[in-house]
Amino acid sequence: MNQTNVNQTATNATGGRTRLVIGNWKMHGNLADNAALLAALRPANPAARIAVCVPFPYLAQAAQALAGSTVTWGAQDVSAHSHGAYTGEVSAPMLKDFGCAWVLVGHSERRSMHGESDQLVADKAKAALAAGLTPVVCVGESLAERDAGQAIAVIQRQLAPVLALGAQSVCQMVIAYEPVWAIGTGRTATPEQAQEVHAAIRAALDGIGAGGIQILYGGSVKAANAASLFSMPDIDGALVGGAALVADEFLRIAA
Ligand code: PEP
Repeated sequence: MNQTNVNQTATNATGGRTRLVIGNWKMHGNLADNAALLAALRPANPAARIAVCVPFPYLAQAAQALAGSTVTWGAQDVSAHSHGAYTGEVSAPMLKDFGCAWVLVGHSERRSMHGESDQLVADKAKAALAAGLTPVVCVGESLAERDAGQAIAVIQRQLAPVLALGAQSVCQMVIAYEPVWAIGTGRTATPEQAQEVHAAIRAALDGIGAGGIQILYGGSVKAANAASLFSMPDIDGALVGGAALVADEFLRIAA
């Protein structure tokens, strides 16, 4: 499958927006385990579009194992630079070379462990778009920020430099709302908590004329809680960490 603009091809779901379920493998996997997981995903035909974001060394494996299937693939980070003396970084054109469709930018683990600023995340999203990748821009508040009543203000601050790229760019992105306190903790936001933030994100997007893009929820999504999250009007799918490593669980989320 030509992965270029995969996200623009689909049309079947919530409010006219395709349901999209993306797995974030984080730093998990090895050749043997990946082969089994990808082989189990390959023939799947769930209701949602599905994709996997794998560690850089396994992009070629994903490309080969998923070629010709409806499952698309991507990376978990990208450099803001197209090339140059940036040891250890991977550029968007390099990801494009591997056939990537997607790249996560601004995952909370990158923001907190690698000091990625809101502006750098926007720069990465811009670089991804320039290479023909769809950036999945992750935003989310910490527990302290939520408890201080700052959740929506934090999301708006994180989104501001992304929105400043303009409607034409933002319309080619996906946003993932991932409250930091729900990632890998087993503690999911309630559908109502998530919907409140998704509606605020939608309003911000609407403000620049980009309200039609997908907004995914991420944070301890499992088969058992996916349907209630997806029943919310502004939740268009999920970014899934731990549960994406178990084929059956991941596919039941996307079913
Ligand atoms: C993630 O890493 O993006 C994530 C949502 O993780 P988990 O599903 O394990 O909470």
